[in-house]
Amino acid sequence: MSCPEKNKVLTDGAAERVDCVVIGAGVVGLACARALAHAGSEVVILEAEGAIGTGISSRNSEVIHAGMYYPAGSGKARLCVEGNRMLRDYAASRGVPHTMTGKLIVATDEAEAAQLDGILEKGRVNGVEGLTRISATHAREMEPDLNCVAALFSPATGIVDTHGLMLSLLGEAEERGAALALKSPVTGGRPVEGGMLISVGGAEPTTLLARKVVLAGGLSSPRLGAALGLANVPPGYLCKGNYFTLTGRTPFSRLVYPVPVAAGLGVHFTLDLGGRGRFGPDVEWVTAEDYQVDPRRGDSFYAAIRRYWPGLADGALEPAYAGMRPKISAEGEAAADFMIQGPNQTGRPGVVALYGIESPGLTSCLAIAKLVGELLA
Ligand SMILES: Cc1cc2nc3c(=O)[nH]c(=O)nc-3n(C[C@H](O)[C@H](O)[C@H](O)COP(=O)(O)OP(=O)(O)OC[C@H]3O[C@@H](n4cnc5c(N)ncnc54)[C@H](O)[C@@H]3O)c2cc1C
Repeated sequence: MSCPEKNKVLTDGAAERVDCVVIGAGVVGLACARALAHAGSEVVILEAEGAIGTGISSRNSEVIHAGMYYPAGSGKARLCVEGNRMLRDYAASRGVPHTMTGKLIVATDEAEAAQLDGILEKGRVNGVEGLTRISATHAREMEPDLNCVAALFSPATGIVDTHGLMLSLLGEAEERGAALALKSPVTGGRPVEGGMLISVGGAEPTTLLARKVVLAGGLSSPRLGAALGLANVPPGYLCKGNYFTLTGRTPFSRLVYPVPVAAGLGVHFTLDLGGRGRFGPDVEWVTAEDYQVDPRRGDSFYAAIRRYWPGLADGALEPAYAGMRPKISAEGEAAADFMIQGPNQTGRPGVVALYGIESPGLTSCLAIAKLVGELLA
């Protein structure tokens, strides 16, 4: 275990006491570590890899979602809308690169246009700021290359530099005394008097006795929940999302989404902060982590994109990267909500477990961290 600030307390296999262990240094774990450090806890962040944010947090669309897709009253709806405001304020105050590009959700036929009403109503009930229905003419005034029969415009949607965000969260947590231990995979744990005994592998295996534990292991959360002996651990499934970048001129200055499809939001157009366009993610259920993008999947992208951008030229898409959605509902099942379990559900005092933190987890990270703090208070 490599933990420069804390080496003096983490010695030779003896169980050293720490107030709080956060497992996983993705954007959600780091947001939790920051919140807990702010609340006065001594925090150790255990990360299996050699750097922060190499998991789901480095392979997504980097969109600050507004929150119009999720069922009213769901954790996703509440935490996305709250997280959107918190993230925008946080990014502005900390100088984290972000832009509120705005987003169009476009209907390309009358059946899809009818679905827009449902999304608009969900947005209204969820408290999404500024979401409006606009005509095809208005949409084309905003984005002349667009094909649609109607659209929704969301001004509260934007993009953020996820890595810049994670560095900022870590920096603040460290300023408040948190320590990051890289190459420190949690291998198991068990409850003991005074907390959880956490086994840490790696080059210098050790054991920590933590009064509070936050499990934010992304794709590994279900496996780790079982290894820690927690109650109510859900099954884990993998749903890959492939991206293709656009060569040549970027057609849109805002994000453009079709109406959503099962398990994803449809092959949409997003921009990175450098202004480069990309399309994705698609939906590919898989049984093992594999981040190769099969160029043949591009065939279905052309058809999907040309519904709203007929000007897409043959050969303009290039395989880019893939991300892995940490699903807790299987293919064909209804989409699950975020599963955020406090001590009552995990069956362990002081232990909070996060499962199924797929999109909009990046947007929601600060709101999730606030909730985790409340569950541990
Ligand atoms: C294709 C795709 C697109 C998305 N687009 C968006 C978007 O546009 N907007 C949005 O809001 N959200 C989006 N999301 C969701 C968002 O990316 C995730 O919700 C968020 O990144 C999850 O962060 P995390 O910290 O929970 O997980 P991760 O980033 O995966 O972090 C978990 C960490 O735990 C570590 N770990 C694993 N096992 C162990 C162990 N045994 N011991 C110690 N550490 C361990 C991992 O190495 C990893 O660093 C998208 C997700 C996907 C897959």
